Amino acid sequence: MSLLAKESVGKENKGSALTIGRDARLAKALDKNVIDSTIGMLYGEDGAFYTFEVVEKVMKQMTPTEKYIYPSTAGDAKFQNAIKSWIFRDYKDEILNKVSCEVIATPGGTGAICSTLSNYLSAGDKVLLPNEMWTNYIQMANEQHYGYDTYKMFDEAGNFNLDDLERKCYELKKSQGRILLIINDPCQNPTGYSMKYTEWIAVVSMINSISRDGTPFILLYDMAYLDYDKRGFNASRENIRLLTNLNENAICVMAFSGSKTLGLYGLRIGAQVAISKSEQNIKEFFAANEYSARGKWSSSSLLGANIISEVFTNYRQEFEKELTYASGLLIKRANTFTECAKKAGIKTLPYECGFFVTIPCDDPQGVFEKLKAKGVYLIPMKNAVRVTLSSITNDEIIRLVDILKMVL
Ligand code: PLP
Repeated sequence: MSLLAKESVGKENKGSALTIGRDARLAKALDKNVIDSTIGMLYGEDGAFYTFEVVEKVMKQMTPTEKYIYPSTAGDAKFQNAIKSWIFRDYKDEILNKVSCEVIATPGGTGAICSTLSNYLSAGDKVLLPNEMWTNYIQMANEQHYGYDTYKMFDEAGNFNLDDLERKCYELKKSQGRILLIINDPCQNPTGYSMKYTEWIAVVSMINSISRDGTPFILLYDMAYLDYDKRGFNASRENIRLLTNLNENAICVMAFSGSKTLGLYGLRIGAQVAISKSEQNIKEFFAANEYSARGKWSSSSLLGANIISEVFTNYRQEFEKELTYASGLLIKRANTFTECAKKAGIKTLPYECGFFVTIPCDDPQGVFEKLKAKGVYLIPMKNAVRVTLSSITNDEIIRLVDILKMVL
């Protein structure tokens, strides 16, 4: 008999991107020709892990007190203001005049997502996810004894499937009386899709219609790749401005990732940023989520939070320049991939920008094994394989597509 609690029997962290990524790294250490297209971290064209120079510089300036003492659970005022300024940019004053807002430091975007789930669902409730998704959402839901349902992300013509999203929201409204919807945008993982402004307008209007009668609607906006939107920093914030039009029965909790924006993957720092027209919603958000953070992880990385505060407050222009260069690397790789894939007749799901591209296929596990035998590691999904553009060079992309063509 297992000693595990019945809910924990059968748990196994198998097939996750982090596990496959570790295998790929080991294989590459033995043979430099191995292509490691697995984990969503940014690597330069020299094949080395990409670090932002400003981030390194700021980190080296930190005193022991700025690195090691116990931080407050939610993060200090400098961190919270720095996050608001970064996420809202030019629209900060306008947004803060229209809605209430609170920020809580978390261990990465993952901590932000996990804590939000735990405070807006009851055991047995379902979170609504896209069918093409970062599968860790399911693990996070299961971990807290929640179920999930999915909406079809694209229609037959490859457009964002608002109809199916709306249908699923109404189903959940009927069955559980509340909706917690996760949207990952821009540069969605795993497709690289970025929603159009008009699609965001439609989503906001849908949320307002559903929640008008008092039905709680929680939009968990996973903005992990916000700063890699090829439309630029300001354009990617216009959606956020729209979210101030949500009514009082709704709240938007944004999950910010210090991993993706600043390359601080292993430091584990991010934030929950909540906005709502109702001040009461935001007061409750802060009280419950600060309590959860203390109960789950006590406090987040002080070093991570202080790097973010300093970079966003005092080194902003320098950092933006580096970030624009980093985004440019991805745009170049995406162009190479698209060109080669087109020539090879390989079809992908709708891609706009970002770290990943998804290729639908019938036997993802089989394709994964065949590629692995040829020294190429990528991530098998349910009905597709995910190529990670951020971790491979332009030259590797050309080789990868050649091998993919053979295998597919
Ligand atoms: N959301 C998405 C879609 C991701 O792909 C990731 C990481 O890969 C995250 C959130 C969270 O990353 P972190 O917890 O490192 O901030």
